[in-house]
Amino acid sequence: MSQNTLLLELTGVVKEYPASPEPLRVLHGIDFSLDAGECAAILGPSGCGKSTLLNVMGSLDLPDAGTTRIRGNDIAAMNAAELARLRNHEIGFVFQLHHLLPQCTALENVLIPAMVHEHRDRAREQALRLLERVGLRERRHHRPGELSGGERQRVAVARALINNPALLLADEPTGALNEEAATELADLLLELRRERNMAIVVVTHARDLAERFAPLYQLHGGRLERRE
Ligand code: ADP
Ligand code: MG
Repeated sequence: MSQNTLLLELTGVVKEYPASPEPLRVLHGIDFSLDAGECAAILGPSGCGKSTLLNVMGSLDLPDAGTTRIRGNDIAAMNAAELARLRNHEIGFVFQLHHLLPQCTALENVLIPAMVHEHRDRAREQALRLLERVGLRERRHHRPGELSGGERQRVAVARALINNPALLLADEPTGALNEEAATELADLLLELRRERNMAIVVVTHARDLAERFAPLYQLHGGRLERRE
C-alpha cells in the first residue's frame, strides 16, 4: 500500500446518547483524518468520549451527524454485510480488557475473526505465525486464565491482526497492565506497525503512552485539538 493514501476520515462527527431531559452529546463535531500506515494518539480523561470516538472510527457505531469514511467510502451508505466485511478485513480492535473467550485457548481466540474463512489451514498457519511473532507460540494451548495480563493483551493483538487489517484501533490497550508490560505492549504495537505498514489509533488517558503514538490529539469538550 502506498503512503499518503487517505484511510480514515471523520467529518463533522456528532454523537449523542439518549438521556433525559435531553440527549447527552459526547462528540460535538469531530474532524479527523489518517493516512495509511500512520499513527495517531487521542488523549483525554475518563468519560470524555474516547471509546465513543474509537467506536465511530471503527464503524461499530454510526455518527448522529457527520460522516465516517474508510478509503473514501461513507460507512452510512453500506449495508450490514458490507459493514461486517469492512470491520472484519480492514480494522482490528484491541480493548483495555482483552475480551478473549475464557473457554478457548490462545490459538482458538486468535482464530475467531478468521472463522468465516474457507481456508482454515491457512488461517491456522497465520494464527501460529502471529502467536510466534508476539512471543506466545509455546503458550498457544493455554486459556486466558492461564496467561498473565500482558500475555492476554498480546493474544488480543494477534487476534486483531489475523485478517491483516489496514487499521488497528486500540482503546486504552495498556490500561490494565503494569508499567513493564505496558511498555512492552507499546513496543510491540509500534514494531508491528512498521512491519505491516499498518495505521494505528490509540486512545488513552496516559500521556506517556500517547506520546509514543504521536501525533497527539486532545479530546476536550467533544472536540479534537492537535497537540505538540
Ligand atoms: P471514555 O472512553 O473517554 O471514558 P466514553 O466514550 O466511554 O468515554 O463515554 C463518554 C460519555 O458518554 C460518558 O459520560 C459516558 O457515561 C457516556 N456513555 C458512554 N456510553 C454510553 C451509552 N451506551 N449510553 C449512555 N451514555 C453513554
Ligand atoms: Mg473508554
